[in-house]
Amino acid sequence: MAQIFSLDPTGSWSVTPVPTEPVQLAGIHPVDMRPLSEGVVNDFRHPEIHRCEYAGKAVWVLLIPAQFSIWVNGRRTGHIRVLRHRDSIWWPGADAAFFSTEKLAKVEIYPGHSERLDCPRCKKPILEGHQIVVCPGCSTIHHMEPDPPLRLNCWTYSDHCGACPYSSDMSGGLRWVPEVA
Ligand SMILES: [Zn+2]
Ligand SMILES: [Zn+2]
Repeated sequence: MAQIFSLDPTGSWSVTPVPTEPVQLAGIHPVDMRPLSEGVVNDFRHPEIHRCEYAGKAVWVLLIPAQFSIWVNGRRTGHIRVLRHRDSIWWPGADAAFFSTEKLAKVEIYPGHSERLDCPRCKKPILEGHQIVVCPGCSTIHHMEPDPPLRLNCWTYSDHCGACPYSSDMSGGLRWVPEVA
């Protein structure tokens, strides 16, 4: 998951999720992203954001048309730019927006797998249909079944992930928010 932070007229950050399909970035104040799959004419006059997969990981690529200039982290960038967590994006006439790839921990249903998977916390198997949380930091899967008969709150059992230092707090929103200059 990726999102763009942009200052709203009151001076606070608004967060817009970046769709997984290719989008035209028509504006950053407010963020205006139009999926190219929805019949938007690809006029090559707006920057585009494309999500690609590389070595099993999501990579977000910014494509910039020839007549357009964009500054990433304060430097004018070329026509192809891989966006990274916390990058600032700016073009003349606007305030900077920020790109973020932080993921939120959320409860999901385990779809099952041919290989046995054990929870790093309770060491018991995680089975198809169990409620789980995938650690946003290291992708390790934990039980998160508050109700009987399982009652295994393995993700929130400790204040961090069972396999890495990632916080297991599920109450808050995104942890990284740009600082207002
Ligand atoms: Zn467990
Ligand atoms: Zn982890």
